[in-house]
Amino acid sequence: MRIALIKGDGIGVDVAEAALSVVEAALGKVGQQAPVCDEINAGAGYFSETGLDIESDSEARIDAADAVFLGAIGLPSIRHADGTEISPHLRLRDAFGLYAGVRPVKAYPNAPQRLADPRAASIDLVILRESTEGLFYSAATHNRSLVVTDDEVQDVLRITRGTTTKLHTFAFNLARKRRERGRPGTLTCVDKANVFTSLAFFRQLFDEVKDGFPDVPVGYNYVDAQALDLVRKPWDFDVLVTENMFGDILSDLAGGLVGGMGMAACAEIGDSTGLFQPAHGSAPDIMGQDKANPLAAILSGALMLDYLSEKLDQPELGDAADVINMAVEAGFQDNALRPMEFGGDMGTRAVTNQILSQIEEKRPLRASLGA
Ligand code: ATP
Repeated sequence: MRIALIKGDGIGVDVAEAALSVVEAALGKVGQQAPVCDEINAGAGYFSETGLDIESDSEARIDAADAVFLGAIGLPSIRHADGTEISPHLRLRDAFGLYAGVRPVKAYPNAPQRLADPRAASIDLVILRESTEGLFYSAATHNRSLVVTDDEVQDVLRITRGTTTKLHTFAFNLARKRRERGRPGTLTCVDKANVFTSLAFFRQLFDEVKDGFPDVPVGYNYVDAQALDLVRKPWDFDVLVTENMFGDILSDLAGGLVGGMGMAACAEIGDSTGLFQPAHGSAPDIMGQDKANPLAAILSGALMLDYLSEKLDQPELGDAADVINMAVEAGFQDNALRPMEFGGDMGTRAVTNQILSQIEEKRPLRASLGA
């Protein structure tokens, strides 16, 4: 297994190293070798040293890898001449067509719950955010605004049949997989189909794909009502599929319900590869202080192993993902994971070491399953 590794800037470096050490330990636990890592230099630090935001042969090296793991990129203190931040990863999304942005939102015992209702303990949903078009089609880095004058700017919200059909197919398959794992497996289409032709099209394509998945229960919600419902009754949802900008906003809102950015894992998946990273940034306010919560990165490592298990047809890699997820769950259950982010006493290294010893202590997964 070959991983293109971009540690990036700030806490990205620390949490990427933490995640890779946990991935390696989990693979060892199921009798698999450590991945071969091809480390690609990128980010604001690299830009200030070289004038490049990522190594020039990076796309070929990503092509040669099975997946990409990224820490975090960008520092507010280092910018392009036009004031925008260094963000080569947005171009990678575009170049590799990483349309399926998977953002799990899960409550853990003893981690902060922002809602008083006891059902908040059962929050376990996934926001699937389209990640290459929608309103982000016009993100500044792409230079695609329709009108830019002194008096007016018009950005474009783009929905295409090709990308949206792939997104919805991914969403239905994800909902089905979650149902097989004992979750409700309900899929909700989140849009604004009552107001925008583009989003009515998004829903039309959802319905076209739906016909091929009669076993998956579906729902529909307008994005404004969905924001309300994510605060009122998030436990009622399982998989939400939505446009890029809506997904960007809703996933931060939902992440806030179960702690904070240090728990927000993320996968961005396309036809040929996947990029895995914590959803947070480089957090310059806490970098170099051993304060960052590495769990978002570690959980992203589990998402990567799950993806590789299917891509490479190696079920053991899925077992390694389970090892990580179970270590996080058990760590919170035992109150052995107390990240500083939540007012606890454990920094990046302590949290990582706790997960590593949790993995070490457990019997091999296959043995414990009786396999
Ligand atoms: P970007 O735009 O690159 O996503 P951002 O400016 O939105 O980044 P982050 O770098 O994600 O911001 O940080 C937002 C806040 O969350 C900061 O106060 C930061 O310290 C905190 N934060 C982010 N990630 C973590 C983490 N892993 N552990 C603890 N705190 C974090």
